[in-house]
Amino acid sequence: MATIFTKIINGDIPCYKVAETDDFLAFLDINPNAKGHTLCIPKVEIDKVFDLDKESYKNLMEFSRTVAIAIQKSVPCKRVGMTVIGLEVPHAHVHLIPLNSMEDARFISKEKLTSGAFEATAKAISSHINF
Ligand code: 5GP
Repeated sequence: MATIFTKIINGDIPCYKVAETDDFLAFLDINPNAKGHTLCIPKVEIDKVFDLDKESYKNLMEFSRTVAIAIQKSVPCKRVGMTVIGLEVPHAHVHLIPLNSMEDARFISKEKLTSGAFEATAKAISSHINF
């Protein structure tokens, strides 16, 4: 069965899109640790990020770097953190999280955002994307 992220890629489930290439998609996490928390995923459905072939892995990291730089320019934060977990969704993804304290990296305290805030955040980040 298709993962929830494949359904997002296919447009069957909506997302707040931040960036897209032929091979990768970035969109806001629906239950963010902090405003601007973004997920970067390969369009190919592979569970574990370290099972990607070397080229795809390198390209996912390069794509994530571009998105992280855009987040840093548009979301006030001390720095952008990168995390790989994957315990919830079995489709490789990189979490990019605007960090102001360790709390933002802990996946425990979550930020509630309105759909308007999600939309504005995605738009702000995407305006700084430069491939
Ligand atoms: P992980 O698999 O790395 O443990 O966590 C998966 C992440 O995906 C979680 O932070 C969760 O909030 C996010 N997530 C799960 N389902 C959806 C969804 O349908 N849309 C979006 N945008 N994010 C999701």
